[in-house]
Amino acid sequence: MDLKTPLVKIPGIGLTLSKRLAQLQLFTVEDLIYYFPFRYEDLSTVKTASELQPGEKVTLVGEIWQIKNSYTRTRKVITKALFNDGSHSLELTWFNQSYLPKTLPAGTKLQIAGKVSLYKNNLSIIAPVWERLPTPGVGEVETSGLHGLHTGRLVPIYSEIFGVNSKWFRSQIHKILPQVKNEITEFLPDQIKNGMQSLDEAIEIIHFPKNWEELNQAQERLGFDELFLVQLATLQTRLAWQQKKVVEPWQIDSAQLNKFIHSLPFQLTNSQQKVLGEIISDLKKELPMNRLLQGEVGSGKTVVAVAAAYLAFLNGFQTLLMAPTEILAWQHHETLKKLLEPFGISVGIYTGSRKNLAAGSGDVIIGTHALLSDKLVTKNVGLVIIDEQHRFGVEQRSYLRQKAKVPHFLTMTATPIPRTVALTLYGDLDLSVIDELPKNRPKISTHLVPEKKRSDAYKFIEKKVKAGGQAYIITPMIEPSETNVSAKAAKVEYERLLKIFPHLKLGLLHGRLKAKEKEAVLQDFREGKVQILVSTSVVEVGVDILNATIMVIEGAEKFGLAQLHQLRGRIGRGAKESFCLLFTSGGTSETARLKYLTTTYNGLKLAELDLKIRGSGTIFGIAQSGRWNFQIADLTDLKLIEKTKTAAENLLQIDPQLDNYPNLKAKLSNLAREVMPD
Ligand code: ADP
Ligand code: MG
Repeated sequence: MDLKTPLVKIPGIGLTLSKRLAQLQLFTVEDLIYYFPFRYEDLSTVKTASELQPGEKVTLVGEIWQIKNSYTRTRKVITKALFNDGSHSLELTWFNQSYLPKTLPAGTKLQIAGKVSLYKNNLSIIAPVWERLPTPGVGEVETSGLHGLHTGRLVPIYSEIFGVNSKWFRSQIHKILPQVKNEITEFLPDQIKNGMQSLDEAIEIIHFPKNWEELNQAQERLGFDELFLVQLATLQTRLAWQQKKVVEPWQIDSAQLNKFIHSLPFQLTNSQQKVLGEIISDLKKELPMNRLLQGEVGSGKTVVAVAAAYLAFLNGFQTLLMAPTEILAWQHHETLKKLLEPFGISVGIYTGSRKNLAAGSGDVIIGTHALLSDKLVTKNVGLVIIDEQHRFGVEQRSYLRQKAKVPHFLTMTATPIPRTVALTLYGDLDLSVIDELPKNRPKISTHLVPEKKRSDAYKFIEKKVKAGGQAYIITPMIEPSETNVSAKAAKVEYERLLKIFPHLKLGLLHGRLKAKEKEAVLQDFREGKVQILVSTSVVEVGVDILNATIMVIEGAEKFGLAQLHQLRGRIGRGAKESFCLLFTSGGTSETARLKYLTTTYNGLKLAELDLKIRGSGTIFGIAQSGRWNFQIADLTDLKLIEKTKTAAENLLQIDPQLDNYPNLKAKLSNLAREVMPD
């Protein structure tokens, strides 16, 4: 076994499990050992039963004396066991695990952990974690004379998915890590590593820390790595970019440009004008543009990009516009045709399921990442626009650059990213921000709806829809990526809603539909043939249907605030009053978090709150948005951002190609390769 061994080849993992792990982007042994815990449970206090106090969290070593199942009136199984550690007895209780008496018969020696409570004057532990004694091969994870992996220590907790829990991750990583540890090569130059832990040390400690102190040091080391590598990569890209020259600066014909701007059905906002100005000044230079356009959902980024495409046409160049999904590509196709065809500019589409292009044709070509295909024949691409940029990796971007010999690059994102963070993550790009919404936007009144008001909410929706509105109902997110499970859950919800709204027309949208089917459903929604669109969160980015005024989100606690804000951005795009209704089964802290949405309508503020509340390691935080994968680094840690930036700058100054640091160079190029489109 080595770091590159596919997980499917590991004894005991197999096809089903490896498919599940693939959903977490875990394919190889290396991916697995880089899958870090997101928190730790402190079960390191080891006590004897005679000294226990109710309320404390402890680990105990002892023996099962008795164990048996009983049944509640509702036929639920309760397992009760008498556990004795030589000093005293203790009652253990588990629910719904009828196999336990067979698995742990009287006489079994166990190490258990959990929170002690007092029940009918007896000390007891509800649902204790248990493991057998002795745990084989544990060696290095010894704590206070105990051997333990799931108890008796700082226990790592991993984000779980259906069928793969923390216990599994712990056991597997514990088994695998010692076998590959000597392959983990240090890549930090000595002068930068300084007093930090070595890489192999840090990785072992992050999974199996002996105490908080060494854990903190491991987190510091690995967080440093994450940011340092990003800084290096973006700085290198920026330096390389600055070496390039565009053959000819573009001519900007103001009279023609104004004609286009006046043809729009609205006036550009000040922000849009400012950003267009920044783009134009780039296009007049000899250096190719490489600009990130950041703007709140609905702030009108598209039309700015279209103006740039129009200028490309006037200068004799084709434009490629790449969207993250087919749905968005089609939508852009509609929009751009309307805006550009009156000027004699042809707009083509090129996606996996639809290609209406003759070779080389189309002044503007819109597509998904199918645009990367060698089969797409282009003539003279001068501008590449990428919508929702964070879905695309560095490599795709350089590939597109190859396709266009003299490319100006404009990437757009609605992901609200705090400026300092943007300068790190997108340090290779110049930044433009549209920070105002068009004036005609209504406020979206947002409500957290308690369960007992659910039927009232449905009545409200019915009334609004009958009055000519349209609604989205977003089904809860089951797993981070769109899977069969999420699709099935959406289907179930759809069936349920059919009965609740028997007189309305409902549509169903999820990631597992074929591209054509998705397009059809969305088109029906656009034309009003579907009044309520039941959907997974695939509608998140960019869908623009003006008549939709209601957004219902089920299981809102599963989403980040910024993500909810994006979803909410699907409504309130026309002039009509709009409503966002959030349902949650989360507890009070979740409810408190969601409350922010009812008072805050600023995407950037919400993103910052997300960072604060959930940390940068959250799956749906901006950190995980696809370009870079931060598990540890705190993106609000300006000091670390500065420190890594300086270190990267200094290193590149003495060795721009990193030729003296082969390990570091290799690590960086691997990183670029890992950043793939979804
Ligand atoms: P996003 O920035 O989220 O991509 P879009 O470009 O899709 O937003 O624009 C959202 C909607 O706002 C579109 O229907 C667009 O036509 C409209 N729009 C864009 N700019 C303006 C403006 N200056 N005034 C009014 N409506 C605008
Ligand atoms: Mg958009």
